[in-house]
Amino acid sequence: MSKQDYGIHWFRRDLRVAGNNALRSQLQECEGRVVGVFCFDKKFLARKDFSVNRFQFFLNSLVSLKKELQDLGSDLLVLDVGPDESLESLFKQLQKSKLGLPTRFSWNRDYEPFAIKRDKRIKKLCESFDIESIHFRDHLLIEPDELTKDDGDGYKVYTPFSRKWLEIFESEPVQKRMMAQKNGLTYLKKLEKGNLDKAFSLTWKKLLGTDLPQDVLEAYVTSNQEKVDIEIPEAGSLAALSKLKEFKKKIDEYGDKRDIPSIAGTSKFSMYLKNGTITVPQIIAYFQLTPYKKKKNSRDTFFSELIWREFYYHILYRHPHVEKKSFNPKYEDLKWENDKKLFKAWCEGKTGFPIVDAGMRELNQTGWMHNRVRMIVASFLTKDLLIDWRWGEQYFMEKLLDGDLAPNNGGWQWAASTGCDAQPYFRIFNPWLQSKRFDPEGEYIKTYIPELSDIPAKQLHKPILGHDSYPEPIVDHSEQRDKALKLYKEL
Ligand SMILES: Cc1cc2nc3c(=O)[nH]c(=O)nc-3n(C[C@H](O)[C@H](O)[C@H](O)COP(=O)(O)OP(=O)(O)OC[C@H]3O[C@@H](n4cnc5c(N)ncnc54)[C@H](O)[C@@H]3O)c2cc1C
Repeated sequence: MSKQDYGIHWFRRDLRVAGNNALRSQLQECEGRVVGVFCFDKKFLARKDFSVNRFQFFLNSLVSLKKELQDLGSDLLVLDVGPDESLESLFKQLQKSKLGLPTRFSWNRDYEPFAIKRDKRIKKLCESFDIESIHFRDHLLIEPDELTKDDGDGYKVYTPFSRKWLEIFESEPVQKRMMAQKNGLTYLKKLEKGNLDKAFSLTWKKLLGTDLPQDVLEAYVTSNQEKVDIEIPEAGSLAALSKLKEFKKKIDEYGDKRDIPSIAGTSKFSMYLKNGTITVPQIIAYFQLTPYKKKKNSRDTFFSELIWREFYYHILYRHPHVEKKSFNPKYEDLKWENDKKLFKAWCEGKTGFPIVDAGMRELNQTGWMHNRVRMIVASFLTKDLLIDWRWGEQYFMEKLLDGDLAPNNGGWQWAASTGCDAQPYFRIFNPWLQSKRFDPEGEYIKTYIPELSDIPAKQLHKPILGHDSYPEPIVDHSEQRDKALKLYKEL
């Protein structure tokens, strides 16, 4: 490697330095001469399911990453144009610079259909400039091509998938991957103490010969901030580390508490996972989770949830049609009623079903919703209101801080019974029974629907009639259940 050789790492949904696989390889190969780049894609910002709040969390994560890279002796160049255009003009600019083009251009793999196409184009772009492009596994611990049935096909059912996943997890190559992530955790602890080595020895200023162009990132932060309408949680690697620490006190009770929405018994890692501020292997390493045959304790249950996440990524990668269509094609013909008024009531948390309304208000007010309640509101939208799961999926994406195509689509298609390994269509959640079982004292309901604070708990699990400020149920559950059964049976 000559002194002139250097690497550029393209950050996308891997907004961290700790244990970042592609970045780590670049640092080793280029002996520290590495800089980072991020490109804003206007197409992404114009998507129908774009969320101002999630974008703010993303921006804050990016700000934190930039600062971390600067502390380490490097920097992050943020470009205001999508990667196809911006990387081409960056390469042209670098061609004329003193150090010339990078020797290696890297990224970590992304499994969403649009990202796969984009990355193929960028690979070609690199080839046209004679730059070596390298990409790495990072977002998942085990990639779809590594986990197949004997016939070479992917799994469509979670239980055998998870068994195989755990088997591969114990293999030597995957245990080596885990070691690297343990080192990532050691880095995080150093970052917390502020005693990091200057691992990088190249800056954009050195490369371009001038200061970075006007701060694109700052401009985005300022203009987006004005539109944010919820409190945005702390972002970045240190915030993720403190989430890990917080959950240390809770993990052994996760099995008992994870279904009770009034208790903060879950990890809240999802929004950090979405941006890659933290990864599944780092979580496994931090809590020293070990493979299980049968789930015996809280840790096993928690481990199994992390595997659900990987499962949905594998499904999306192997069956990209799920992004727009039902996994099971026969359900494309379902005759949804799609009543806009009912949909509006659902979005606003005004259906007259307190557990559903509390969930939707939690989502609108905080950008997050408890998993049990996500299942309840999704089942209610599809099987009580007979509204297409895609409407709900999109609304969730507009609101969720952790909104993420693979698990969101998986969760929605599970609830609507259109997905792989989904809830059978005849198993329809009864919102009244769900509410009684998982929020018996109505603590969760009353947190988000203060107008019901004087109503005795028992009455919260049946229709509330004649209330001044809270609506009566907009539908009758048993009638709607019969209708839903008929719709599904027709197919
Ligand atoms: C209709 C619906 C929509 C959903 N949309 C999303 C979404 O957009 N983004 C998202 O990350 N999760 C989604 N989920 C899955 C799950 O609800 C969230 O991951 C979880 O509530 C996040 O909270 P937590 O981090 O405290 O979870 P914990 O209970 O602490 O679980 C730890 C981690 O395991 C993973 N996990 C947990 N439950 C699931 C699950 N059912 N499916 C897949 N992964 C899981 C998540 O990465 C989570 O962070 C959805 C579920 C449903 C039913």
